[in-house]
Amino acid sequence: MSVHVRLDNRLLILRAEDQFRRCNSLDDDRICILCQRKFNGRQVEIRRFGRGKHELHCPTEGCSSGPHQWVYPGTLLVSDIVAPDWWRAAGKQQERRAAASALRLQGHRV
Ligand SMILES: [Zn+2]
Repeated sequence: MSVHVRLDNRLLILRAEDQFRRCNSLDDDRICILCQRKFNGRQVEIRRFGRGKHELHCPTEGCSSGPHQWVYPGTLLVSDIVAPDWWRAAGKQQERRAAASALRLQGHRV
């Protein structure tokens, strides 16, 4: 169930919950690598769980991706997109390649 969050709170929640990049504005676009949808901070689906805790989700119905599956146009460093401890802990390159090909899908040069 999504909750209605006032716009000023929304930015605070985005900043708190989206630890993969700095969220400066609700107008920042991001692209979901699962459903290819482009959306901005106002459209992010915020779900509340527990007290003062929120989860961010892709606004596409049926798509439950979270911030680690979103890429930001203009973000060139793959390490900024993929959670650093993902690939560092795994010690392999697959996730980085996956992120790179996701970027290529969006027409970015990698
Ligand atoms: Zn999605």
